[in-house]
Amino acid sequence: MPLATEVRTQYEIVIGLEVHVQLLTESKVFCGCSTRFGDPPNTHTCPVCLGLPGALPALNREAVTMAMKAAMALNCSLNSSSRFARKNYFYPDLPKGYQISQFDQPLAENGWLEIAAGGGRKRIGVTRVHLEEDAGKSLHEGFPDSDRNSYIDLNRSGVPLIEIVTEPDLRSPEEAHEFLTQLKTLMLYLEVSDCNMEEGSLRCDANASVRRAGATCFGTKTEVKNLNSFRFLQRALAYETERQMKLLESGGEVTQETRLWDSREQRTYGMRSKEFAHDYRYFPEPDLLPLAIGESWKEEIRRMLPELPQAREERFLRQYALPKQDAQLLVLSRDVAGYFEEVAKLSGEPKLSANWILNDLTFLLQESGRTFTESPAPAGMAELISLMARKTISGKMAKEILEEMVRTGRRPGEVMAENGLAQIDDPEKIRAVAGEIIRAHPKQVEQYRSGKTATLGWFVGQLMKATRGQANPQLVQDVLKEELIRR
Ligand code: ADP
Ligand code: ZN
Ligand code: MG
Repeated sequence: MPLATEVRTQYEIVIGLEVHVQLLTESKVFCGCSTRFGDPPNTHTCPVCLGLPGALPALNREAVTMAMKAAMALNCSLNSSSRFARKNYFYPDLPKGYQISQFDQPLAENGWLEIAAGGGRKRIGVTRVHLEEDAGKSLHEGFPDSDRNSYIDLNRSGVPLIEIVTEPDLRSPEEAHEFLTQLKTLMLYLEVSDCNMEEGSLRCDANASVRRAGATCFGTKTEVKNLNSFRFLQRALAYETERQMKLLESGGEVTQETRLWDSREQRTYGMRSKEFAHDYRYFPEPDLLPLAIGESWKEEIRRMLPELPQAREERFLRQYALPKQDAQLLVLSRDVAGYFEEVAKLSGEPKLSANWILNDLTFLLQESGRTFTESPAPAGMAELISLMARKTISGKMAKEILEEMVRTGRRPGEVMAENGLAQIDDPEKIRAVAGEIIRAHPKQVEQYRSGKTATLGWFVGQLMKATRGQANPQLVQDVLKEELIRR
């Protein structure tokens, strides 16, 4: 039974996230093996990432560069000296018996990321960003003997990750979802990760607790794992926080534990706490020097940062006077934002461009299973927008033309010529159709004449339908107005 709203509003939800982002380097973080995804198991391995005795790690500079970019974009202070540490635990996919991570001296600390919340914006604190290596992967399914045996693929062993830990600043599952969305957007802008959740290049664990509204101490938290989509993150947190509230309502207590989200059953369940009672016995990695980052290196990286989503959103509002929501949606993807700017500049119609890119184009691409990179060339899109802005074509015609453009990659002019979609610009042809419609609908004519001028829109619709949207919309209005008052 769901909790009554009156009960739920007596509680405040507190959430902090721990996010792993896989960096897009060509090679692994401590060896030269490829990071390519999807190759046959154990084809990208060497003594270092297999954890053979005596093999020595050597730090990948590109991984550090990417981690620095991410940390800077998250407004963190970069430590001038950070240190690698061994995080010791036993697991079959971890051949060394430890993961090289960072512990007491992480790469960067004390940052923040702004999210949309409650109609405004809110800063979510970023506790730390550190660099570490990924473990391998256990394969429990897909083999003829999977009912008895599991296999290990070490291609992923040693792939660079950053871990981003937030402060417990999020106050609802929606805010957690929004944070992850903004974080993903940021990482994509920086081109440091592809953030593909299915392939595991973005992973998120969520810590959640509830407390009585007004309480000054945090409640006991649980950590929820196995969240492999944005939707699951939000659902799992909604489920888990409600579970905690019910527990407290019935006089119980929340136990600090790790819980797993079960997407089939739409619930979380606790692991036996012993399984997760980790003591990692961190100690400094003796095979790597501390990582020293001087001012000049920081400056070099700072200069490499692109315009970030929030700056871009603000610029879009100023430069193109877009509605806020359009600006927000456009900047979510660097590709979409760039495409919009080209189309807006070529057509000189930013608002119309934003509208068509966010609505019809996005819909057509999705419907035909295409990605945004398969959009019509910006010049063609701009041509279509211009034709519409000049009222040379109706919105309905534009839709048909755009469909063809997406399907065939042709330009609007070509599509129109080929499909006989040319505009009807002859007022006499339009007048003839208008006459027929007026004769067939005396009741609506009467309404119009008695002062219900909104009926004009209905007539325009009828006429556009009769001409399959090909009539020049401006002419249609003019002709109908004339014809409707003619006796
Ligand atoms: P732990 O000691 O379990 O590792 P940390 O204090 O290091 O806990 O925090 C880990 C994550 O849990 C962080 O993202 C932090 O924001 C979050 N967190 C800490 N305390 C709470 C709490 N009471 N409720 C919700 N999240 C919390
Ligand atoms: Zn290797
Ligand atoms: Mg901790």
